[in-house]
Amino acid sequence: MKFRGGYNVPVAGMPSRQVEVLGEPDVLYLPRWSARFRFSDLSVEEGQRVSPGQVLAKDPGNHSVPLLAPRAGTVRLDTADHVVLEGVVPEEQEPYEPREGLPHVPKDAGSGGMKRHKLMVLGAWQYFYDAHTKMLPDPFGTPRAVIISTLRLEPFLVRGDVQMEESLTTFTRGIEHLQSLLEYQPIYLVLPDIQSELARRVRESVRGYAWVKLFEIPLRYSLDDFAVLARALGYGQEAESPVWGLYAEGVLAVDRALMHSAPCSSRTIALGGPEVGAPVHLEAMPGYPIDRILEGRLTGESVRVINGGALTGRKLESGQLGLDSECAGLTVLSEEIEREFLGFLRPGSDRRSYSRCFLSSLFDRASGRLKAAVRGEKRACIACIQCEQVCPAGIRPHVIHKFLYQDLLENAEQARLDLCVGCGLCSYVCPSKIELYQQFMTAQETVWEEQRAVETTE
Ligand code: SF4
Ligand code: SF4
Repeated sequence: MKFRGGYNVPVAGMPSRQVEVLGEPDVLYLPRWSARFRFSDLSVEEGQRVSPGQVLAKDPGNHSVPLLAPRAGTVRLDTADHVVLEGVVPEEQEPYEPREGLPHVPKDAGSGGMKRHKLMVLGAWQYFYDAHTKMLPDPFGTPRAVIISTLRLEPFLVRGDVQMEESLTTFTRGIEHLQSLLEYQPIYLVLPDIQSELARRVRESVRGYAWVKLFEIPLRYSLDDFAVLARALGYGQEAESPVWGLYAEGVLAVDRALMHSAPCSSRTIALGGPEVGAPVHLEAMPGYPIDRILEGRLTGESVRVINGGALTGRKLESGQLGLDSECAGLTVLSEEIEREFLGFLRPGSDRRSYSRCFLSSLFDRASGRLKAAVRGEKRACIACIQCEQVCPAGIRPHVIHKFLYQDLLENAEQARLDLCVGCGLCSYVCPSKIELYQQFMTAQETVWEEQRAVETTE
């Protein structure tokens, strides 16, 4: 299989393979939003005592996916965008107790339907993606195929191999549960290097599962993107019959929900970036206080915390107090407000570039201290086509940019704006620091809104 584009951004601060379990918190701040969800339907009241796994709020725009209480505690609603749990009780003192029955399940749903309901109420459905749109798929829809990506190549998101290595048996059992939701559709297991020791163990563990197909890809960001993988496997976008995508943590969540009937109330996140003293993986629960996570771990004073990876993450909002329910990593970069002493003697030594045109290209690539500052580098497009070289979607970002710059949205659509998977590589490599990624995401949103408006008027 031939892949186009991709590039591994050299950034210092890769999290170690160690998974550190964070201590039990006294208070949890659960944001009522995440990358895909808006938990606008509150299910609890001020002062209410909740038990572990209880529904705190739901997202009515996403099949009512729930925000669950990771621990027992007392609800406080005085911050508009969070559900705060005070007096949090450690898991060993008040563990999860399964509730009686499940919500209404359609009579014809069968055992597969019961399982899907279980995934929803126990918080595991959140880990499913529509491979092409990255949105939450319909829990009762039928996929054409399932793609399990064991990778996360963006610096720095939680690495699937770290999670799998810890619990390969659980992972394999999760794939079996996943298969029980399907009829005959294939499951593609994406591995980075099929000859590695972990790949050998994975291959051994799924031996005999004819419906699992191993799929090797080059180790280049963002070839692990679900849309890139689906297209490489020959699956185009079909709204009625999507391709489901899951990361390794999603498979573990499926096992937890269907094997143990337990809610998915904690997740592994990566904490990395040049400004983290000892980058590591952390096991934390949604709502865990971010201040407490970062305390004593940062090397610089003026830092920018990114919620997500260095390329597609967003600056952590100042009002966000706890981890959101989809967080896969925190990346910490230097804001660089102060000038470096005698910095003019080594111009470009701290600037990373795809074209390797700065002095930094002479140094070790892994030591690049990516910073948040643009430092006056914004310029017009110089038609260097570096963005085209790295684009995994095979489109021409500089051409689409020029159409959008002139408000020619239809021309941008004809140039296949829809194929952009939003990996952010074009913005990273652009020597003129044009914000292509943000421009394309906004334009795609405009196109989708127009399409939705047309569908509702029809
Ligand atoms: S155009 Fe889209 S898919 Fe291509 S590099 Fe840019 S963000 Fe990635
Ligand atoms: S990388 Fe930037 S400057 Fe180069 S062609 Fe693309 S948009 Fe233009």
